[in-house]
Amino acid sequence: MNRRDFLKRCAAVGAGGFVLSNQALEVRVGSKHPNILYIMSDDHSTSAIKCYGSILAVVIETPNIDRIRREGMRLNNCFCTNSICTPSRATILTGQYSHVNGVTTLGKTLDRDRQNVAKLLQQAGYQTAVVGKWHLKSEPSGFDYYNVLPGQGKYGVLNTVELKEKGNPWGTKKEYEGYVTDIIADISLQWLRNRDKNKPFFLMCHNKAPHGLWEYNPKYEHLYEGVEFPEPMSLWEDKSHRCEASRDAGRDILQLCSRMEDPTWPTGQLDTTGMDDTQKKKAAYQKYLHDYMRCIASVDENVGRLLDYLDDEGLSNDTVVIYTSDQGMFLGEHDYYDKRWIFEDSLRMPFLVRYSSEIRAGSVNNDIINNADFAPTFLDYAGVSTPSDMQGSSFRTNLAGKTPAGWRRSMYYRYWMGTSEVPVHYGVRTKRYKLIYYYGLPSGWELYDLQNDPLEMNNVYNEPSYTGVVSEMKAELSRLREHLGDTE
Ligand code: CA
Repeated sequence: MNRRDFLKRCAAVGAGGFVLSNQALEVRVGSKHPNILYIMSDDHSTSAIKCYGSILAVVIETPNIDRIRREGMRLNNCFCTNSICTPSRATILTGQYSHVNGVTTLGKTLDRDRQNVAKLLQQAGYQTAVVGKWHLKSEPSGFDYYNVLPGQGKYGVLNTVELKEKGNPWGTKKEYEGYVTDIIADISLQWLRNRDKNKPFFLMCHNKAPHGLWEYNPKYEHLYEGVEFPEPMSLWEDKSHRCEASRDAGRDILQLCSRMEDPTWPTGQLDTTGMDDTQKKKAAYQKYLHDYMRCIASVDENVGRLLDYLDDEGLSNDTVVIYTSDQGMFLGEHDYYDKRWIFEDSLRMPFLVRYSSEIRAGSVNNDIINNADFAPTFLDYAGVSTPSDMQGSSFRTNLAGKTPAGWRRSMYYRYWMGTSEVPVHYGVRTKRYKLIYYYGLPSGWELYDLQNDPLEMNNVYNEPSYTGVVSEMKAELSRLREHLGDTE
């Protein structure tokens, strides 16, 4: 929509602009095919976004990311189906679970000939672009423009960042000066400015941050100075309640501490001279949170730049803006600093969305939504129905405040990439319960009652009072595996 149409529309809806009532939801004031600005960070926990109200909310600031929630909606139960970078990205693009799209682990490549949401949006008349972290090995397909980091990419602190731009043979790298999060926003904005303004756009702006090792922009080196980040209760969890398969597994904070004690640690060595293990764990946790939140400061700043651009161009009401992360992240919960597990902090993706024509400002949604649903939802906004080979479902009407009858009440998860640190497992989560099966050696089951034990510090699988729940959850797990075709 051009500026004149925009002004005309503003006049039509009155001085109150696009503030919505229930009634207004019936009258679509938004454009038929809105732009989609999809901003995704890497390893951004919901706990590290102020508007999610975690224990950290009293000390952290994410004003621009929070603006999307204030003017839009916060999803409280958006989950990843396989909590690790590459598989999650493949699921988001294909609308398929890992066992169907083939990208089950970090080592797998996305087949670029496979159908993906960008190709379908292109066919529907959208201009498509992806900028920043890609991490799917093969050359992006379905994008009119791409400029992506090779592999994990570099932060480029006081140095340069390499990217691979469309138009050159795949693999050709070009150097950019500056800090990676700024560069990704710069390139995204440049593409937006130069786009064909007669077509709607679909831009995937993918940050590297706040993925480890957490190299913040030096201008934020004093941010949160003197702040003591609250520790999650489960940092000190006694894991004797767990089954044998998971009890001693995971990447813990003392392991992170030993990595930070290395003189080459990028944000400066952690000095633990004279500390016992408790003191080391506390010190490493504080350094982790300081570095991580300083990386997020740049993410937030650049989200603000993108939102400002939409405002300045009069595009804010015609653009679905999403802020999310490829999965969650442990910030000391369960004494971990990674992802991979089905536990809440790793499973839950942040998801904030603004689209004033359909989504009420300041609203929340508690439906169970997962990353296979993203592609069908984008297509829905573009007027394209979900292709039969996509396994997710559009949640456009959920976002508009109307959960469809029969919406899913459980979700299936599988972590395929077994390592010596995190065992392979699959499971099912409902609103109240979570059942986990570790299918490697040793195998084992865990059940959590999220209503009574939201921090998942008490496995009740063997408690007699939960026998009935265990049976029901096992039946639901079998049903989901059958339904999704993951019966191997
Ligand atoms: Ca990630």
